[in-house]
Amino acid sequence: MDRTALQHVIEQLLASGRLPAARPGRVFASYGNGAPCTVCSDRVGPNDVLYTVCFNAEKLGMHLDCFEGWDRMRPRSPGTA
Ligand SMILES: [Zn+2]
Repeated sequence: MDRTALQHVIEQLLASGRLPAARPGRVFASYGNGAPCTVCSDRVGPNDVLYTVCFNAEKLGMHLDCFEGWDRMRPRSPGTA
């Protein structure tokens, strides 16, 4: 997925609430296990870096690129960035 398409997807996920706008609690980096990425829906394979982002009890797995795209586009309010 190219960057423009990815940004569009992230916008929609943020708008629908599927991706939280809040700052994540904890982020873990590991390698994927073939489960689909929360952002782009492509599988995160064993050769891909998987970011696992924790929001309370929820864990969202995504590619490194997808995480960075989301982190860039996440709305920031004063005091939470
Ligand atoms: Zn992805």
